[in-house]
Amino acid sequence: MENEFLPFHRPALDDDEEREIIEVLRSGWLTTGSRAKKFEKDFAEYIGVKHAIALSSCTAALHLSLICLGIGEGDEVITTPMTFAATANVICLLGAKPVFVDIDPGTLNINPDLIENSITGKTRAIIPVHYGGHPCEMDKIRRIAEKYNIFIIEDAAHAIESEYKNEKCGSMGETGCFSFYANKNITTGEGGMLTTGNDDLAARVRVLSLHGLSRDAWKRYSSSGKALYQVIEAGFKYNMSDLQAALGIHQLRKIENFLHRRKEIVKMYKREFELINEIEFLRPKPYVKSAFHIFPVILKKENLINNWQNIFDSYKNEGIGVSHHFYSLHLQPYYRDQFGYKPEDFPVADRISKSLITLPLYPLMKDGDVKRVIETTKSILNRFL
Ligand SMILES: *Cc1c(COP(=O)(O)O)cnc(C)c1O
Repeated sequence: MENEFLPFHRPALDDDEEREIIEVLRSGWLTTGSRAKKFEKDFAEYIGVKHAIALSSCTAALHLSLICLGIGEGDEVITTPMTFAATANVICLLGAKPVFVDIDPGTLNINPDLIENSITGKTRAIIPVHYGGHPCEMDKIRRIAEKYNIFIIEDAAHAIESEYKNEKCGSMGETGCFSFYANKNITTGEGGMLTTGNDDLAARVRVLSLHGLSRDAWKRYSSSGKALYQVIEAGFKYNMSDLQAALGIHQLRKIENFLHRRKEIVKMYKREFELINEIEFLRPKPYVKSAFHIFPVILKKENLINNWQNIFDSYKNEGIGVSHHFYSLHLQPYYRDQFGYKPEDFPVADRISKSLITLPLYPLMKDGDVKRVIETTKSILNRFL
């Protein structure tokens, strides 16, 4: 068994999801319908928001958030460089500029004390990303947003279960954007959700997510609706199908059980790794509930950092899938060339990018898998110390 490959992630799906998917197949209605509606209702209840709109991805949710808040050509949007490309790409797609702010080394979230320096007359919004499921410093971010009259769009792709001082992530901004990509804490294969308390914004997101039609397909064709629709905007094709929602409904029911197992694994990792001085971890704040989406290990010693690629490859050779969250966006060719960002502009993000490896963390991992990752990590680190 020693050499069996332990993947970086495996989604936890069982008979419940299988049964629901088969029911959808047999129902004859595969696209957006009653299951998407139910998933929206359940999700809105879980987050405690008025509106939840199921979409094709978190990227779609971020894109529609910016559009509905009127962000466009010449505007600036503040965000973290320590995120997935989607967070900043959607800003660029609208002709606006992503203004990065360096991160806090304890949580790898945007450093709230550096935000105000980056605000200009063109700043219209801020997208805090709750990195790894650890909530950003929302009190400070909200204070700044109010002072300068800018919108908050939460990238809660990692943070479905997360709470900041007993407030759910995705309920603190103008919108919250969630991902159900295959390796997120719950999955619909591909999928996303936009949450908001704003009625008008919610209505416009619904229209824009389906071609700009004034009614969704379900209402159009079912017996309760009219057969006609109106195109009121040039919209997108960003809706979630019932096939996807069938997974989401059951995944959401199990989310707190999944989180319980994630916490057990994190505890096992920490108990062993805290004895190793040459690496460090996220330092969670006592007043948050984290979703523990990922387990990043940060290499501290120069020797280890210089051997980052060798260490990364060693995991693969030992049959363990690892990942990297993230290579700071300001170092990526497009952002570097388009906006002239230099590595030293964001020294913390720069250093962390080059010293971080993400270990597997998911509910299907057995204790034996966790122990194997721990032992392999110790032996790889020893090789390069
Ligand atoms: C995964 C992810 C996204 C994008 O989610 P999709 O559903 O794949 O579009 C956005 N932001 C962050 C931080 C992510 O990790």
